[in-house]
Amino acid sequence: NWPIIYAITPTYKRPVQKAELTRLSYAFRLVPNFHWIIVEDSEKPTKLVTNLLRTSMLNYTHLIAPTPASWKRKLREPKWKKPRGVSQRNTALKWLRLNRNKPTDRGVVYFADDDNTYSLQLFTEMRSIRKVGVWPVGLVGGLMVERPIISASSGKVIGWNSHWRPERKFPIDMAGFAINLQFLISKPQAEFSFNVERGFQETTLLSQLVGLEELEPRADNCTKVYVWHTRTEEPNLNDEKALKKLGQRSDE
Ligand code: UDP
Ligand code: MN
Repeated sequence: NWPIIYAITPTYKRPVQKAELTRLSYAFRLVPNFHWIIVEDSEKPTKLVTNLLRTSMLNYTHLIAPTPASWKRKLREPKWKKPRGVSQRNTALKWLRLNRNKPTDRGVVYFADDDNTYSLQLFTEMRSIRKVGVWPVGLVGGLMVERPIISASSGKVIGWNSHWRPERKFPIDMAGFAINLQFLISKPQAEFSFNVERGFQETTLLSQLVGLEELEPRADNCTKVYVWHTRTEEPNLNDEKALKKLGQRSDE
C-alpha cells in the first residue's frame, strides 16, 4: 500500500474562495493516492464547498472549525495581526488521529493553504518521508526562495537562508514541510497554538516533533522550488453596491 497524501486545507468565505478552490482541486486531481482534508472556517458546512467537493472527483473529508471570535480578524485589521488556520489545522490533525491510526494506515500529511501554487513534483518528493521532510518555498519571507541549507558532508539540514525572524528554530513556511502519518500519530500531543508570536506556527508544531538533525531534505537537496507562497489580490468590487441597488446580482 502506497502512502496516501493527506493535504490539509483551511478555507474561509471571501469573493475569491471559489476560484481558489477550483484551481486547487484541478491541481490535486493530478496527484495519485490523494486525500483532501478541507476544513472550513465557519459554523457549518457551506453549499459552495460542499458542492465543489462533491463534483471534484477527489477523495476528501469535509470538516468545519470556526476560528474563535477573539482570534478572528476584525474588518480592516491587517492580516498579520492574528494567526490564520490554527483551529482548522488542529481539527484536521484530530481527525487523522481518530480515523487514520491503524498500523496499516500509511500516509504523509501536508498543510496546503488554498492560495498557494503547487507543482506535481512536490507530491512525488514528499511521499517517501519517514519523519519530517523539508524543501524550498518560493515567494515568501521577503525572498524569491526561502530554503533549508544542507551540509555537503553530512547531507543534513544545518540552517535556513531565511531573513525574516531567522532566530526561529524552524524559520520555514507552512508550505515547506510534510510529516509522515505514523510518525505524527506517535506524537499525540503535537498541535498548533494561538498563543505564539507571529511567524511561530511552524516552529511551534515542528519543535514538538523533531530536532533539526532529523529533518529529511527533499527537492534535490533543497535546490528545487516545487511550491510557491502566492497570494491572491483582493478584487475590487466597488460597483457591486450599485448593482445591488438596482436589484441585480452578479454572484450567481
Ligand atoms: N484562513 C482561514 N480563515 C481566515 C483566514 C485564512 O481559514 O480567517 C485560511 C486560508 O484560506 C488559507 C490559510 O488559512 O488556506 C492561510 O491563510 P492566508 O493564505 O490568508 O495566510 P498567508 O498566506 O497570507 O499567511
Ligand atoms: Mn496564503
